[in-house]
Amino acid sequence: MSSMLLKNATVLDYFPVAMDAEAAPRVEVVDLRVSGERIVERGTDLVAKDGEEVIELSGVTVMPGNINAHGHLYSSLAAGMPAPKVPLKSFNDILTEIWWPLDRSLDAEANYLSALAGSWDAVRCGTTLIFDHHASLAAVGGSLDRIEAGLSEVGLRGCLCYETTDRGGKGQRDITLQENERYLQKLHDAPKSGVPQFKGLVGAHASFTLEERTLELLEGICSRMGVGLHIHLAEGTTDREVSHDRGWKDPLDRLTDFGLVRPGSVFAHGVDLSPIDMQTLEEKGVWLIHCGRSNMNNGVGRAPIDRFPLNCGVGTDGLDNNMWGELRMSYFRGNEGGRGPMGNPGAARFWLGNYRLAREIFGEPFGSLDAGAPADFIILENFQKTPLTSDTWLGHLLFDFHPWDIHTVVVGGRKVYRNGDTPPVEATVLQKTAARMWKSMGWQN
Ligand SMILES: [Zn+2]
Repeated sequence: MSSMLLKNATVLDYFPVAMDAEAAPRVEVVDLRVSGERIVERGTDLVAKDGEEVIELSGVTVMPGNINAHGHLYSSLAAGMPAPKVPLKSFNDILTEIWWPLDRSLDAEANYLSALAGSWDAVRCGTTLIFDHHASLAAVGGSLDRIEAGLSEVGLRGCLCYETTDRGGKGQRDITLQENERYLQKLHDAPKSGVPQFKGLVGAHASFTLEERTLELLEGICSRMGVGLHIHLAEGTTDREVSHDRGWKDPLDRLTDFGLVRPGSVFAHGVDLSPIDMQTLEEKGVWLIHCGRSNMNNGVGRAPIDRFPLNCGVGTDGLDNNMWGELRMSYFRGNEGGRGPMGNPGAARFWLGNYRLAREIFGEPFGSLDAGAPADFIILENFQKTPLTSDTWLGHLLFDFHPWDIHTVVVGGRKVYRNGDTPPVEATVLQKTAARMWKSMGWQN
């Protein structure tokens, strides 16, 4: 079993190791001993053992790996794509002209390469765990294995699901349901040992693309597999408007009626939710994930983040996996036009929420760098202009830490990235795949 001793590091962590502990961010100069996939000892003046790798980190910061609470690795090869041929006027146009054609253009190989490229972006931003929400309507069966393979190649953890939808008719709907259940069954049947690299949820696109029978079937999988639902909820007004046009109730009420508002679920966006909706989420123990940059980009409105339930977090919604960028942009947006509802307490609450979510779903004390915690951390060689202390950690997250400062990323005790490493795939391979996808979308000859 490999072992390493980190000496004299400035260690920032967010939680004690006890699973039921409240967040308690702290900064200490200490030594950490890593053995296998966990931190096994924390203290001052730890003595190196025979054969142990010793890394001197005086003046260097070590902190838990970043977590993305809602992402879409399938969109990695959309970054830099040509502009759509028709002007986009609404959120609905963005879905029908960009994301739905894109998800139909993904084949098995493109799924894998998108996950690989996105994971490479993620690790270079210190992100070590992604709650992914996958869609590839023309290549559904086995697609979650392809996403898993891309994450594994880079060495990251993931919580995966497939976005069930009725967009492609009943036949395709059934295939998307099967993919969720197949993947969850695979995880269930796999031998259990140590810190899980992968977990799963039951995935669904959004209430307005789901017929009532589909909601029943989704509930069946959640109950059989004992997991929650990962879905877009009230990303904009479209979710509610389409529901009303169809003669349905409001999106959250529909999900409630079908038993889909259940603990351990991850709902993304929540822009168009009432105070009563927020209370329902709070009572049911559902996680509501704020995707601030995506909301801005899609023009869906400003999420009422001051009313979000206690179980809240931040996600990039497929834009990238740079969590420091996501947090600070949401913080700035909250401050625009006067100190808004985010502020420092909000930023801390949303950031720490991602670790609480990962603890709940994975059953492991992520966010802690104490003995017993998974050895998932970032070694950050930033030029420390101002002291990093238990009082200033949030200011450093919001203004001081940058991906270019990352020296090494460790997941499960394994160095998965070192600054200067070669990418896991040639850029030309990705570019060829992207061009093939854009051609199938009719955007490129
Ligand atoms: Zn999303």
